[in-house]
Amino acid sequence: MQTTKISPANLVKLARLGIHHRAELLLHLPLRYEDETHLSPIATAQPGEAVQVQGTVNHSEIAFRPRRTLVCRLKDNSGELYLRFLNFYPSQQKQLAEGRQIRAIGEVRMGYFGLEMVHPKCRAVDDDTPLQSSLTPVYPTTAGLSQAVLRKLITNALEAMPLTDTLPDALLHKLHLAGFAESIQLLHNPPPDIAARSLEQRSHAAWRRIKFDELLAQQLSMRLHHRERSKRAAPALAPHRQLTARLLNDLPFTLTRAQHRTFTEISRDLAQPHPMQRLLLGDVGSGKTIVAALAALQAIENGYQVALLSPTEILAEQHFLKLRDWLKPLGIMPVWLSGSLRKKEKQLAAERIESGEALLAIGTHALFQDRISFLKLGLAIVDEQHKFGVQQRLALRNKGNEPHQLMMSATPIPRTLAMSYYADLDVSVIDELPPGRTPVVTKLVSDARRTEVIDRVRAACMEGQQAYWVCPLIDESEALQLQTALETYQLLTDTFPDLRIGLVHGRLDSTEKMRVMELFKAGELQLLVATTVIEVGVDVPNASLMVIDHAERMGLAQLHQLRGRVGRGKAQSLCILLYQQPLSELARARLKIIFESGDGFAIAQQDLQLRGPGELLGARQSGVAMLRFADISADEDLLDQARHVADELLRDFPEAARAHLRRWMSGKHDYLHV
Ligand code: ADP
Ligand code: MG
Repeated sequence: MQTTKISPANLVKLARLGIHHRAELLLHLPLRYEDETHLSPIATAQPGEAVQVQGTVNHSEIAFRPRRTLVCRLKDNSGELYLRFLNFYPSQQKQLAEGRQIRAIGEVRMGYFGLEMVHPKCRAVDDDTPLQSSLTPVYPTTAGLSQAVLRKLITNALEAMPLTDTLPDALLHKLHLAGFAESIQLLHNPPPDIAARSLEQRSHAAWRRIKFDELLAQQLSMRLHHRERSKRAAPALAPHRQLTARLLNDLPFTLTRAQHRTFTEISRDLAQPHPMQRLLLGDVGSGKTIVAALAALQAIENGYQVALLSPTEILAEQHFLKLRDWLKPLGIMPVWLSGSLRKKEKQLAAERIESGEALLAIGTHALFQDRISFLKLGLAIVDEQHKFGVQQRLALRNKGNEPHQLMMSATPIPRTLAMSYYADLDVSVIDELPPGRTPVVTKLVSDARRTEVIDRVRAACMEGQQAYWVCPLIDESEALQLQTALETYQLLTDTFPDLRIGLVHGRLDSTEKMRVMELFKAGELQLLVATTVIEVGVDVPNASLMVIDHAERMGLAQLHQLRGRVGRGKAQSLCILLYQQPLSELARARLKIIFESGDGFAIAQQDLQLRGPGELLGARQSGVAMLRFADISADEDLLDQARHVADELLRDFPEAARAHLRRWMSGKHDYLHV
């Protein structure tokens, strides 16, 4: 086996591609292939198609308008085609001089003078220059690293590295998977007779093997995280059923079956001497807060402290008010950590937390990171988990053992996503809504009918209903959003001097925000103009009308969250999605989905198909390597297999599991724990 040294300059460039070890070159797979195995007659080339043609340059000139461009005309015995180059070297100009015979490969498009190729790959040929015998791989690359050099490096690596299969033969047979070596060889050097399409669509057996391997590595590392956690220590918080029973007794409602079941799951985890990491999933309005409160009480019953973290001040404040009411009869007073607290008050709160006197602390995540340390933190509850980063989640300071963690999310996670990216967490799902809810009616209304909508809002308010008017984020700019909110507020107050209208947005200080929300909650305000700050957690059951302005600009999860702010009481609720035409393809698809479905899981599933996992994962993706090859919505069958195989390997073939992780996770440390 030969090993060729890789030059330091190339090492730097490879590092930019995430390649740090020679073995990683093997897994640097082509994005697509160029077919240089045959020539197409120019006359048969179709716009949009990538082809290789060969002919004689019968005209070559430099045009100066609109920009300096090298334009050549290539002719074979079937027709002619233009080649255009915006940046070119003198050597290229020479290569493409009149009379030269050229082979060009590129995508054909319809230009001003007829068919053309822009920046085709060209080379000088003569009559018997052979064609390539296999498809030419095109790799993801980086500035200064040419395809030719990268191809050479990969070819060397393929010769130098053993392509040992990490999986036992029996397993490959059982799963009908292709071998690793043959798959890798084929993807880097496809034989001439292979259908380029099956490679590009990644449906070929070789691709399936690679995708399976990638998913398997992900599953293995998640399992190991999980396993490693069960070796760490946390306080065992047994269910004494004192405080929890009293709270349940005092509630004006009884738990739904789903709330009961999920609390039982959490309760059992808390009693273990290992840190729980459980995700409580439940659609908007499914009643996660009470489940969290019960979990908190179980920790408090054991003499431990609890932190409840929210992504926004408004949400933190809502939790604070709700829990204060619920826990008051039990003699527990939560500590409120708000950005608007004066320095002295903050100090006092911090001291009570540090001394252990405060049993429950509620606030935004940012505040907790602000040098606050717990004496005996037993449980950290993180609401709307997807808004936080992974690393952030673990940043609470605590003098005692590692606390248990309960994460809550109203962004339903499609099954495949839960099985892959969240496989290291335990998941509890609240899959029913409390009784007595009437589904929200959704209407799509074009902006042309804005005045009608405004009248409707007024009529509803006059009848004693309460309404939200939500202004969207514009160009990701908080300042612009604020401006529209202010303008809308102004417009509505001018139009309806008889209505009591409030305004809430992200720039208000939190005392002011709190005051407005409280007035709205108490029914003092009839209409609340808001930015998307009310997206999560706001709970005003009497509000039954929501207008979402410029709904076409919002994402599906956001629309669903916003709509979930109504339909919380007995009255029939209405959500009007005001949209501005023309709609983009994507916006149209989103509005159709939100109009047709009220089920958060169904919406999330469709969202996954529209956008891929990146957005749904939110902050989590920063902490978990994204899949490069597998696509969890298209490769669900492989994901299922990978899950089973992960268990089997860890149980029966730990050596194979280790080798597999070493291949796929080199540089990351997960495999050390096997
Ligand atoms: P989310 O899951 O969106 O956080 P919340 O916890 O805010 O939902 O609950 C939504 C509303 O439903 C609250 O007003 C809450 O008090 C109420 N609620 C929760 N559980 C029940 C139940 N079992 N029966 C009736 N109402 C409930
Ligand atoms: Mg909530």
